[in-house]
Amino acid sequence: MSLLVFGHKNPDTDSICSSVALSYLKNQLGFEAKPYALGEVRKEAQFALDYFKVSAPELLTDVKGKDVILVDHNELAQTADGIEEANIVEIVDHHKVEISTEVPISIRVMPVGCTCTIVYQMYKENNVEVPYEIAGLLLSAILSDTLLFKSPTTTEMDKLACEELSKIANVDMESYAMEMFKAGTSLDEYSIEEIVNMDFKEFDMSGKRVGIGQVFTLDIDSIFAKKDEFLSHINSTDYDMLVLAITDIIKEGSYLIYKAEDKIIAEAFSLDASQGVFAEGVVSRKKQLVPNLTTVIKNI
Ligand code: MG
Ligand code: MG
Ligand code: MG
Repeated sequence: MSLLVFGHKNPDTDSICSSVALSYLKNQLGFEAKPYALGEVRKEAQFALDYFKVSAPELLTDVKGKDVILVDHNELAQTADGIEEANIVEIVDHHKVEISTEVPISIRVMPVGCTCTIVYQMYKENNVEVPYEIAGLLLSAILSDTLLFKSPTTTEMDKLACEELSKIANVDMESYAMEMFKAGTSLDEYSIEEIVNMDFKEFDMSGKRVGIGQVFTLDIDSIFAKKDEFLSHINSTDYDMLVLAITDIIKEGSYLIYKAEDKIIAEAFSLDASQGVFAEGVVSRKKQLVPNLTTVIKNI
């Protein structure tokens, strides 16, 4: 009977790539297996699929009576609807184990940064050669889940896997990761106003109406190319002050575009303020942007 392999709902890059890579491994080992997705493929995973010319897994609609393998998750709340009527035969995951089963099944859970690191080990254990495009997908997922090894979940096993996989996939790990992250956080299809309002909150600071918007992206260049348009939009709003923080998770800081006096921004974030200035270490609106601005505005 055919095996259906899938990751969690709202699939990330690991869920997509581990499904594809594990299905291929199962096929090589003589099983019929096919990858599926429990939701739309997001931009980052789509970039990886396109780069290595692999078609996206089909959307899973029905698991009733099917033999399934869960990857990158094991919680029932995160899995396919109707799982109660399916037959879970195997789990490959890197999260805490939540599931209990009626019958013994194969479970491979390891405390590593990514499911694909485990899948790569399984290729090795079974002496199955990792083809170019599978290496590319495995690499993409590990770089994604570990945020290019910045995540505290990263292990030596993840790093070693990436070193080996990047040779097979023939890419420079760091520049590939940045390209993939950029594609994943691209704001290309949004207007200036949509970006400012994407995650926007208004505050009363000593009687002043202050708006603070925050977006997470690595596509900083395309924001800066439109800096003047951002400024003219921000300045046209009726807020007393408005700060747009464009947060770069890799550099761990935010670029600030604002409607405010330079000296307020300078004091709040201890920097030499100018439009687009990088505030190092400033990544949280709740813990940094709001309290810092509140303090300075109270004292003007
Ligand atoms: Mg995941
Ligand atoms: Mg994962
Ligand atoms: Mg993830």
